[in-house]
Amino acid sequence: MSLASVMQDESELLLSTYDRHPVLLKRGKGVFVYDSEGRKYLDFLSGIGVNALGYGHPAITRVLAKQAQSLVHTSNLFYHGFQSDLARKLTKISGMDRCFFCNSGTEAWEAALKLARAYSVLRNGMKSRWRILAIENSFHGRTFGALSTTWLKKYRGPFAPLVPGVVFVKFNDVADLESKFDDSVCAICIEPVQGEAGIYPLSQQFMNKARALATRHGALMIADEIQSGLGRTGRYFAYQHYGIVPDIVTVAKPLAAGLPLGAVLTTEKVAQCFHPGMHGTTFGGGPLACAVAIEFLNILERQKLVAHVKSEGAYFQRKLEGLARKFSIVKEVRGRGLMLAIELHSADLAKATVAAMFQHGIIINRTHDTALRFLPPYIIEHQHIDQVIAALDEIFSSFPSAGGDAPAVATKAASAERFRKSTIKGRSGI
Ligand code: PLP
Repeated sequence: MSLASVMQDESELLLSTYDRHPVLLKRGKGVFVYDSEGRKYLDFLSGIGVNALGYGHPAITRVLAKQAQSLVHTSNLFYHGFQSDLARKLTKISGMDRCFFCNSGTEAWEAALKLARAYSVLRNGMKSRWRILAIENSFHGRTFGALSTTWLKKYRGPFAPLVPGVVFVKFNDVADLESKFDDSVCAICIEPVQGEAGIYPLSQQFMNKARALATRHGALMIADEIQSGLGRTGRYFAYQHYGIVPDIVTVAKPLAAGLPLGAVLTTEKVAQCFHPGMHGTTFGGGPLACAVAIEFLNILERQKLVAHVKSEGAYFQRKLEGLARKFSIVKEVRGRGLMLAIELHSADLAKATVAAMFQHGIIINRTHDTALRFLPPYIIEHQHIDQVIAALDEIFSSFPSAGGDAPAVATKAASAERFRKSTIKGRSGI
């Protein structure tokens, strides 16, 4: 199976939904992934925040193999025991009371929106409040409810009409939030750190006001922790940095270490509005995914990875801020833990940087045109951060405004390839 033949087959057989790098990935180990040509990449995107333990973690592989031999799927018509064990762990770290399991982020978000509407009907009956507030630039997924609370036109545009009743509030604008919040609102949707928007944390003031207004108007606060949750920001959940507690929390990406699994966590009070038949899924919360998720949470605890994310994140952020001081093309460094971004002044430079990083054997991506996003595995060490910083330093130095520009980067491809080989040759995965 060659890259060329796969590209040709996909172009004829798949819906055109992704703009893929022309690379055929074959295997991964630790923080590295390898392509069909044997090239090695340091993965600072980790499957868009999914591979928090990197590739091939031995304990995950063991649980996967063991569970695959006994029970992979049962349907939700029967008990298998892993859902309650996983729910016990998730409720403990989140402060919530109950869980619903599904297969993905967007499904978790759909369940959260349905919970909010159903809770409003339970509380208010025929006078149900059904407006939903969401924040500008937020991203909650691709299904219809999730799209309706997602801001960017490029995601929503072709699919109108979407779910009615959603009103957008300006990012971190407390006055706008107050003016739009009234008794007709059943929920306010927040990403404590906006991910796809380019890693923008909400302000403490905005979070406090959102919590207070939701409580005052009998609405629910829904925290989308699909990208920011489960340790990514140096706490189990990003809302825990703010000292507030939402009514509903959604998680997915790293939960089952690469298997599809999402969850909605909520309070006892809210959970009362769901009864058998109101919501469900065929695959969600199967024994294989849940067994692996339990092991994922055990590993976070055993290897003290949330504290590790905090310390490595602080080191990485300091280094990125050093680059910001050195290069005027860097506008800002943002984020928390290992959910970080640097904002460049130009989309072309950001695009050229991602391409040049790839030539250096480092995977990152770009969101909102100008933000370089870093979502590395939690298991990275200083040496990996130093490698990324050295590559960025060399690339930025090649831009004319700080030593080079986009085309100049392209002509640097050969030297970048040499650099990549010299810096990563012989390093093993961790
Ligand atoms: N919410 C947030 C904050 C996300 O970052 C994403 C995915 O990137 C989603 C929801 C949707 O998750 P999924 O792609 O698993 O449906």
